[in-house]
Amino acid sequence: IVHFDQVEKRYGDHLVLDKLDFEVKRGEHVTLIGPSGSGKTTILRLLMTLERLSGGVIWVDGEPLSHTRKPDGSLRAATEKELRESRRKIGMVFQQFNLFPNMNVLRNITEAPITVLGVERAEAESRARELLELVGLGDKVNAHPTQLSGGQQQRVAIARALAMRPEILLLDEVTSALDPELVAGVLDLLRQIAHDTDITMLCVTHEMNFARDVSDQVLMFDSGRIVEQGTPEKIFTDPEHKRTREFLNAVL
Ligand code: ATP
Repeated sequence: IVHFDQVEKRYGDHLVLDKLDFEVKRGEHVTLIGPSGSGKTTILRLLMTLERLSGGVIWVDGEPLSHTRKPDGSLRAATEKELRESRRKIGMVFQQFNLFPNMNVLRNITEAPITVLGVERAEAESRARELLELVGLGDKVNAHPTQLSGGQQQRVAIARALAMRPEILLLDEVTSALDPELVAGVLDLLRQIAHDTDITMLCVTHEMNFARDVSDQVLMFDSGRIVEQGTPEKIFTDPEHKRTREFLNAVL
């Protein structure tokens, strides 16, 4: 469903992703691990079309995400409007929740389905209530984000992402900003979503037990390249590369 095809990303002279190639199959759960600054967040931001790539092509469902096909079959960089269109298939949950502070929980969840997808308000609200039940916040429909704990805000952010019925869900260190006692609950929710839905998930996390439980594939990054990829059993118990062993020794 996702194919990074020789993807490069530079910030000025700084090469952050170096001719990156990888594929994610539909329904797969992929975890991106590696040291800080290795480019993991940049990959998710490129997929969410929040950043533009410097080279290569990102394909989603066999269509170019970063580009548009010209009538003669060649590709040109997508316009902002085209990027916004492509973004619909993809949902993202951020480390810092990023809820709309001036909207209550219900509106946080219904806003995009109504304005972007054109869903009727009543239908969007009924779906939002279902999602709030799913994430364990059925009683917080009218609360404002500031009245919620970090863990609760992150559950709302997860519900908000799911409300767009994304084919692909991107999770960027979603428990890193949470108080330790709130982490397990959010991870359990994500385990449940991984288990109960067929959404493709790409996840940047430092929670290695979680990665081991839910991943089909683990990608180990260093300096904008994949140094090793494989099943969690392989990567966590028998890594081949020195760099992977050093990283896992440091975080486990
Ligand atoms: P972390 O775990 O710390 O989030 P990461 O592996 O997700 O690290 P990225 O956030 O993708 O790494 O960053 C990769 C590199 O790109 C870093 O060296 C970072 O400083 C640089 N970078 C990221 N965003 C920008 C930006 N907007 N402008 C300039 N450099 C950036």
